This record gives sequence, structure tokens and C-alpha cells, in this order.
Amino acid sequence: MKKIAILTSGGDAPGMNAAIRAAVRYAIYVDMEVIGIARGYQGLLDEQMYNMDMRSVADIIQRGGTILRTARCPEFVTKEGQKKGVEILRKNDIDGVIVIGGDGSFMGAKALSELGIPTIGIPGTIDNDLAYTDYSIGFDTACNTILDAINKIRDTMTSHERFSIIEVMGRHCGDLALYTGVGGGAEIIIVPEHKLDIEKVCEKMRDSKKRGKMSGIILLAEGAGHAHSLAEEIKKHGEFSIRSSVLGHLQRGGSPSMKDRYLGTNMGVYAVKLLEQGIGNRIVGIRDNKFYDMDIVEGCAMKKEFNIDLYNLAGIVARNNMITIGN
Ligand code: ATP
Repeated sequence: MKKIAILTSGGDAPGMNAAIRAAVRYAIYVDMEVIGIARGYQGLLDEQMYNMDMRSVADIIQRGGTILRTARCPEFVTKEGQKKGVEILRKNDIDGVIVIGGDGSFMGAKALSELGIPTIGIPGTIDNDLAYTDYSIGFDTACNTILDAINKIRDTMTSHERFSIIEVMGRHCGDLALYTGVGGGAEIIIVPEHKLDIEKVCEKMRDSKKRGKMSGIILLAEGAGHAHSLAEEIKKHGEFSIRSSVLGHLQRGGSPSMKDRYLGTNMGVYAVKLLEQGIGNRIVGIRDNKFYDMDIVEGCAMKKEFNIDLYNLAGIVARNNMITIGN
């Protein structure tokens, strides 16, 4: 391949810039031309493209977000939109594409591949909701941001002897809540994969109080409920002083962690290496610390398994067997 393009699509994630930088620099190293497509598939349909050279990706590895910007593009879900995208790529002599995004973006990558433009997907989402890869770019940084928030909220909760519900992102996936619940020593973790009823939550809080613990953190995944309404429900019991915080979009931003820069850099290079061989319709992932690739459809069809062992372990170390599955 002589000329490839790169775009970011769906929600942004810290570490996407590391992937862009690595892909651009590796492609130039193997004598390919690289085109940056701004604003995802929307930018493709609007022909928002520019040449990327070594300097265009300087000073970005430490920056959150994506220098290419991102967007959602309903038109690209249609066959007409996809055909228009392929025509634009062909008109610009683009032989292959790299798409950094989540499962929706991967469906767009599949469509491009099927229409004759080999396309590779790189997982970029803080939700870590893609089954085929152990980690997606952005998850680790978001976890660290959440941990920082937990530490700060815990300081004030301990001083006032209060409980706090912290709602984190993740959509239908509980990984952000689970991993940061473990790392942040949360007393209770509520995830969509294993919802807890309010009675159980109150029972645990009562149990904590009996043991002399007057404060605590309840980590709630957005897919399992809403912090403010859960706090209101718990308040109705009249036994607890409780507050709620929704961390929101601050979880998406920030300078990427070492791990996300490492994932971004390796996956960016891996994707170019596939295109170099004329291979498309694949997604890059990491499994047991090894980078690998698999078919887009197969990868997207995989069902993410909830990490029950980690969840159970969280219950044990929080001295909270009540949230343990299987007991
Ligand atoms: P995130 O996990 O951050 O939400 P995502 O990639 O799953 O990322 P989506 O909004 O689902 O985000 O998809 C991003 C874009 O990918 C859509 O706006 C659309 O342009 C394209 N896309 C989504 N689904 C399809 C599909 N079935 N076929 C073609 N393109 C699609």
C-alpha cells in the first residue's frame, strides 16, 4: 500500500493520540503516505482530510482526547453513506484505513473492508466493553482519574462520617466501577452485570456501622443506576448520612497513563503492519499481554465475560461477603 488514512470515531479516549502518532510515524518509516481524516466518518463524508507528516504528530503523545477530533455519523450507518465514503477514499487514492474507536466504529470499518478498502480497527474507549481484547485504549487513564476522585471524596466523607455514592461511566459494562472499586477500596460495588437491591446495600452499610465504620464509598456503574436517586432511596431509611457524586466527562479527559501510551503505540504500529501486507477487516487487541488481531465480525460478536473472580475478591477484601456471587 502506498497511501493510508486514519480516523478516530465514537467517544474519545486518552491514548488515541499515542496510537495516531505511532501509526503515522511507522507508516512514514515504511514509505507510506498518511492522510488524517478529521471528525470520524462524518469528516470522511465531508472530505475533511489533510496530509500528516512527522511534525504533525509531534508533542501529542501526552495529550488526552484526539487531535483528529471525533464525531458520530448516522449517515455512515446507511449503505449509501458507506458507498459515498468509499468513493471519496478512492478519489483520494487511499488504499487502506485505520479506525480508532469502539464497536460501532468497528462496524463502519467492516463496511469499508467489504466495499474493497482494507480497514483495521484499534480499540479506543474508556468503557473497556470490547470482549475480544483484555484492555482498550483509555480505560487505564480513566481508572486512574476515578481513583484520584475516590481518594478526594473519601477524605471529606471520613471527616464527616458519611457514605458516598460515586457514579462512574461504562454504559452497560461494569469494568470501570469494578477495577476502581478494587483499587480504591470501595465498601460496595454496584455493576450492571450483578445488580444489588437497595435493601442489600443498606444491610451492608448497617453492617459497616456495627463494625465502627462510619463512612464508606459505594461505587456505582452508570449502567446499574443513578447516584442521586439511589442516595435519595437510601436516605428514606433514615439511618445514614449519604452524599452522591457523578464524575461525568472528567473521566474521559486527562494526560494518558503509561499503559495507554504503551497500548496506543503498539496497536498503532500493529495496524499499519497489517495494512502493509494488504490485510483488512481485522481488529487489533491485547490478550494475556500479547498483541494480536482477529476478524472484525468475530471479535464484535464475542460476549464480554464479567470478571466474577475479581468481583468476589472485592467483596472479601472489603469484608463484605454479601456482595460475593455464589454465597
Ligand atoms: P464508544 O464505545 O465510545 O461509544 P463507538 O465506536 O461504539 O464508540 P458509536 O457511536 O456506536 O461509537 O459509533 C461511532 C460511529 O460509527 C457512528 O456514529 C457511525 O458513524 C459508525 N457506525 C456505528 N454503527 C455502524 C454500523 N452498523 N455500520 C456502519 N457504521 C457504523
